[in-house]
Amino acid sequence: MECVSCKNKENLTFFSIKNNGLKCENCAKSDKSVIRISNASLYAIRYIVMSELKKLFSFNIPEESIEELKLISKIYLEEKLEKSYKFEKII
Ligand SMILES: [Zn+2]
Repeated sequence: MECVSCKNKENLTFFSIKNNGLKCENCAKSDKSVIRISNASLYAIRYIVMSELKKLFSFNIPEESIEELKLISKIYLEEKLEKSYKFEKII
């Protein structure tokens, strides 16, 4: 996986709603739609992206990462479905 802007493979600690992908710390600074993600969530996203569907039912992630992933999914889906939605509401 790499930064959607600069292709950097290091410090991918942000998810950009605008660009549909991970961003490094540098690129995240100029993107207001980024969400900071933990290593556990990054690992989970990587796992989901790279796994075959049948494997999705057999992995464990920490409870706090599940909450984080729920939040990211919610923001992402609402943004993509173009519902009227204020980003500030959840922060
Ligand atoms: Zn970058």
